[in-house]
Amino acid sequence: MEYKGLATQAVQSGYAIDPATMSKAVPIYQTTAYGFKDCEHGAKLFELKELGNIYTRLMNPTTDVLEKRLAAMHGGTSAVCTASGMAAIFYVAATLASAGQNIVASNYLYGGTVTLFTKTLNRFGVETRLVDTRDSAAVEAAIDANTRFIYCETLGNPKCNVEDIESLAGIAHKHDLPLVVDNTVSPPPVSDVFAQGADIVVNSLTKMVGGHGTSLGGIVIERGDFAWDNGKFPEIDGPDESYHGYNFWEVFGNHAQAVLPGFALTFKIRCGILRDTGACISPFNAQQILLGVETLPLRAQRHCESARKIAEWLAAHPAVAWVEYPGLTTHQDYELAVKHFPLGPGALVGFAPKGGYEASKRLCDNVKMITHLSNLLDSKTLVTHNASTTHQQLSEEELRAAGVTPDFIRLSIGLEDVEDIKTDLEQALKIASA
Ligand code: PLP
Repeated sequence: MEYKGLATQAVQSGYAIDPATMSKAVPIYQTTAYGFKDCEHGAKLFELKELGNIYTRLMNPTTDVLEKRLAAMHGGTSAVCTASGMAAIFYVAATLASAGQNIVASNYLYGGTVTLFTKTLNRFGVETRLVDTRDSAAVEAAIDANTRFIYCETLGNPKCNVEDIESLAGIAHKHDLPLVVDNTVSPPPVSDVFAQGADIVVNSLTKMVGGHGTSLGGIVIERGDFAWDNGKFPEIDGPDESYHGYNFWEVFGNHAQAVLPGFALTFKIRCGILRDTGACISPFNAQQILLGVETLPLRAQRHCESARKIAEWLAAHPAVAWVEYPGLTTHQDYELAVKHFPLGPGALVGFAPKGGYEASKRLCDNVKMITHLSNLLDSKTLVTHNASTTHQQLSEEELRAAGVTPDFIRLSIGLEDVEDIKTDLEQALKIASA
């Protein structure tokens, strides 16, 4: 049965009851492999002539529920999980772009994505052109015949800027390219990026989706209607030599003859780069993350409500130098935030105490209930000093372009009582400004 409501999807989609055991909770299928009925059955599975479980590096029944549930919640057709968010991003890039081709990406990205794109992929001949995505002409100018996708984050981490996904999707589609959006910091119900025109969502499930800071995971979700047969993507619409000439578009493309329409990219990732490099999610982590998904709509609401209260409080605080949160009427992206984030623009707030780098360091060193670490969107409130941690490997120029000033503190608002978060920040601000 297909469920329309997000709260229902979060607890029901992708799973009814385990037919073997009648278990109501999603079981952890802790198995590496699955029996073949006979040699012919095994051969058909390996040839992709019959779809079914082979080996947990490629698929697992627990993971399958997570994939189906998150695809439903995003309004996509299909998904594939990975060991982490970084693996999901790498798998999209490595499937869509080959040596000699390029990616056009926003300046405002998570530091790990910047190093993946500009250092690691560069070693394999894929170039990334980082551009200021506020400037449509600059995005257009960066695209050439060898560009294979446009990439951005819904809300840049840590800058908290709102990307204009509708506008970027318009540019991408004009050039027959997909728009890939990292929606880690604003999963449903915080934002609906497929409705805004994104073609592919990548998400670190480690963050708000899992929500409890226990388990790493990643996912690639496709909206399902991108025309991969436009001549630019022979990896998808072309003979796959590793499957004796199999064509993923013919079997999984968005057309009437397909066996599973709208699965072309995710199936290609599963049976290509995931098969060959193996960064699969563990069934245990998939089940932990599924527990997080069940309360995601409720938690997201609380995260967003509290973030707004804290951002407004910080903006009025005499010891605070500046606040980056697009839900403030003074923020340059306020209009976009109102349009695309019905609950509020996520739960990250960038800010700095007065006193520059040294004051920011003192604040991070003196929070008590709040933890200073490198993670975000846990149920607990966290602070990160990005220039010295998550974005440390970026050059000064890249830091400036990403909006990560030396005093930048990223606050990730958790589920505690807002007054307790304020009390801790108040005492840390006092020490920071002393
Ligand atoms: N994307 C964003 C926006 C992130 O903030 C992170 C990690 O912080 C990642 C991707 C990578 O996720 P993971 O740590 O699960 O590999």
